[in-house]
Amino acid sequence: MFLTGQFISVKGLEMRALVLEQGQVQIWEDCPAPQPEKHEVLVKVLKAGVCETDLQLARGYMNFSGILGHEFVGVAESGRYAGQRVVADINCCAAEPCQACPQNRHHCARRSVLGIFNHHGAFAEFVAVPEDNLTPVPDCVSDDQAVFVEPLAAAFEILEQVAIKPEHRVAVVGDGRLGYLIAQVCHMKCPEVTVIGKHSEKLQRFTQHQIKTQLLQDFSGQLEFDVTIDCTGSVGGLELSLRITRPRGRVVLKTTVASRYEIDLSPIVINELQVIGSRCGPMPRALAALADSRIEVESLITARVPLEQAGQAIQLASQPGHSKVLIEIA
Ligand SMILES: [Zn+2]
Ligand SMILES: [Zn+2]
Repeated sequence: MFLTGQFISVKGLEMRALVLEQGQVQIWEDCPAPQPEKHEVLVKVLKAGVCETDLQLARGYMNFSGILGHEFVGVAESGRYAGQRVVADINCCAAEPCQACPQNRHHCARRSVLGIFNHHGAFAEFVAVPEDNLTPVPDCVSDDQAVFVEPLAAAFEILEQVAIKPEHRVAVVGDGRLGYLIAQVCHMKCPEVTVIGKHSEKLQRFTQHQIKTQLLQDFSGQLEFDVTIDCTGSVGGLELSLRITRPRGRVVLKTTVASRYEIDLSPIVINELQVIGSRCGPMPRALAALADSRIEVESLITARVPLEQAGQAIQLASQPGHSKVLIEIA
């Protein structure tokens, strides 16, 4: 059933939006604009990015119905950042904070998640976001770059969870969009980063950053890595990651998939591995890295689609040969 509540517009304002309902992704031309709650502001969306999670949602992950989209840059319509470009943390706490909120908003027991869980997302002309979730974007960061702040923050979350040291050998399993961000973030901490992927043309991208690459089909390495990060977006990534991590090493799981795992967990016990789930991260840290040009993101953009054709953007993003597909909104 479609989310109610948020869809009662005060101004009677209608907008264009990309809606997922009963497994169908469709453009609505007359979608009521969201009505912000008292702790929220309306953000006019400039650009948004299609992410692997959007593709999984369309396949049934999280059972989500509503407006898709959680990677975006926009302009705040009101509140303390009114008129400024902003990016938003996607974890939305309720108006009344719970006990987890002050320390750990990402794990608020009453949270909704923009475009993923109980909260309409940003593939629309407007999105309602809690004001505390917003971070203003400095002038030196372009709209294109700012779209990547959310996934880049997720990459930085790994550094919040695992102390990567200069002597570590790190494997990034997966050569996609998130792998490109994660490899660069890890490479800031240690020179020995190897990306393992299936696509020689995607692996090419990493060489400009002096990051090592390894084609999966030629890969015979075993128990080599101190830290292995699975960002394949497929169920096969974790099994490989467990197999190539040294005893007492750490495996970071970034992949979220709609399907279930059938997997041999014995390497975790035999090799005393730590498996660490990793999700959203610090937006200001990601913005700062973009502002200092420490992370390159723009080469990931392979297509730009106007909002009225956003359904096509989802199709494109799932095709081989495409990396980040941007939806141009305002
Ligand atoms: Zn995402
Ligand atoms: Zn809370």
